[in-house]
Amino acid sequence: GLFVLGSFVVACSATVARLPRAGESLQAQAFLVEPGGKGLNLAVGARRLGATVDGLFAIGDDALAALAAPALARAGLPAAMLRRFPGPTGAGIGFTDAAGENCLAVHPGANARLGAPEMREAADRIAGAALVLAQFEVGDDAVAEAFRIARAAGARTLLNPSPFRAPAREILERTDILVVNAVEAAALAGLLGASAPDGEAQPAEWEGLARALHASGPGLVVVTLGGRGAVAVPAGGAALVRPAFRVAAVDTLGAGDAFAAGLAVGLAEGRPLPESLRMAAACGACVVRVKGVFDALPDRAALAAMLGG
Ligand code: ADP
Repeated sequence: GLFVLGSFVVACSATVARLPRAGESLQAQAFLVEPGGKGLNLAVGARRLGATVDGLFAIGDDALAALAAPALARAGLPAAMLRRFPGPTGAGIGFTDAAGENCLAVHPGANARLGAPEMREAADRIAGAALVLAQFEVGDDAVAEAFRIARAAGARTLLNPSPFRAPAREILERTDILVVNAVEAAALAGLLGASAPDGEAQPAEWEGLARALHASGPGLVVVTLGGRGAVAVPAGGAALVRPAFRVAAVDTLGAGDAFAAGLAVGLAEGRPLPESLRMAAACGACVVRVKGVFDALPDRAALAAMLGG
């Protein structure tokens, strides 16, 4: 199974004709509150594809915390994934304009409370997974310790360093699969003193940077480039370019999470990299063609429809 070192964030988003300016109040066309957070998205994405999923999500003790248990139940995830801390639950607020452009701010709340001790308490569950997934809505200590436990038990690790911060060296050293978007890849390049192609570059042009990133730990580097697709570069193997599925993009929020969930499930099922990448891209495409993330994450039937269509 998969173990997701989670984040739980209540995501609020307003649909507006255009993004508000400083000091301005706008009427919104729609308002959506949904359970989210990169960790929850990864876990729900993987579970909906049929994977056995465990993990840890930190919630607070406020009114927003009450949204977590029903969301897990609805997704078929175990209630034991929740860990309650005093204080606020993670929450985010975003705006999406008519062109699908968005801006958002996320307060980590309880997610910042997960640390190494909580990982050690869950050591048996982490060690029992085939693949451990983490992202950066939780702190370095938690990720580093979860990956240490995973590696010691022979489990593989997948990191999506988003929202971006400079990853601790030991985290990258303990990462098997690194999934980054163009912004994150360029930021990592800056840290390593490597050069990154410009933001409009095609997938194949990111191969050199991916190879430079291998030296810091990950054996597989995947760079996602939105509607231009993705490139996967295995250390010692040929780069694989995966074009995006052609869909009308309504809301690109959560595309990276859906992609990572699809990739993780494909690889955990023992599928070859090209097939896993195709699954990942199809999952990303399913999420961008509708507003919202939670309900858009595909099940096997929706995935098959995207792959076949
Ligand atoms: P993030 O959400 O982390 O910024 P990307 O925007 O790179 O990630 O999207 C991740 C993946 O989702 C892409 O590699 C692609 O497969 C898919 N995807 C994203 N945007 C689109 C789009 N407009 N059309 C089709 N697929 C998309």
